[in-house]
Amino acid sequence: MATIISHGLVALAIGASATTQQITSKVIVAGILLAMLPDADVISFSLGIPYGSPLGHRGITHSILFSIVIALVTSIIFFRDKQAGKQSVSFYVFLYLFICSISHGILDAFTSGGRGIGFFIPFINERYFFGSRPILVSPIGIENFFSSWGWAVIKSEMKYIMLPCVFYFIIIKSTSSILKFKS
Ligand SMILES: [Zn+2]
Repeated sequence: MATIISHGLVALAIGASATTQQITSKVIVAGILLAMLPDADVISFSLGIPYGSPLGHRGITHSILFSIVIALVTSIIFFRDKQAGKQSVSFYVFLYLFICSISHGILDAFTSGGRGIGFFIPFINERYFFGSRPILVSPIGIENFFSSWGWAVIKSEMKYIMLPCVFYFIIIKSTSSILKFKS
């Protein structure tokens, strides 16, 4: 895993760049939570589920299918559009929530350790990494995080995730204020 801070930051940066009014701050908060959610599967270790199982860490909760389902369910429960007597789900809200959720597995697939990501579970129980894996994998368990390994992870994520997100955020915000100023 990458740390939950980095996963949340990516969701925030993506949300900030949305140009549609439908991506409200509430939707962005939901997106941040969905970007963090897949690692709730670390509970599988205490339940005795093997790492390589579809239900194990980096398994079903990191899959494309899970991202589609959780984005759809969250859209339907929390963000139904009730205008004009009809109830509908905004495609953009669904799309943003899906991107936030799947961004988790995508970031994890760039990490240096652990098992790969089960993007295609439950159809294919294979685990995948990308060819380049520059992000140092985060230790599992908070006690392991407060170590030299944890510090090295923070430095690695600063370089490859956090600082790029902050720069991206600043660029998006400054270009949108320039556009507003001009119009
Ligand atoms: Zn993960």
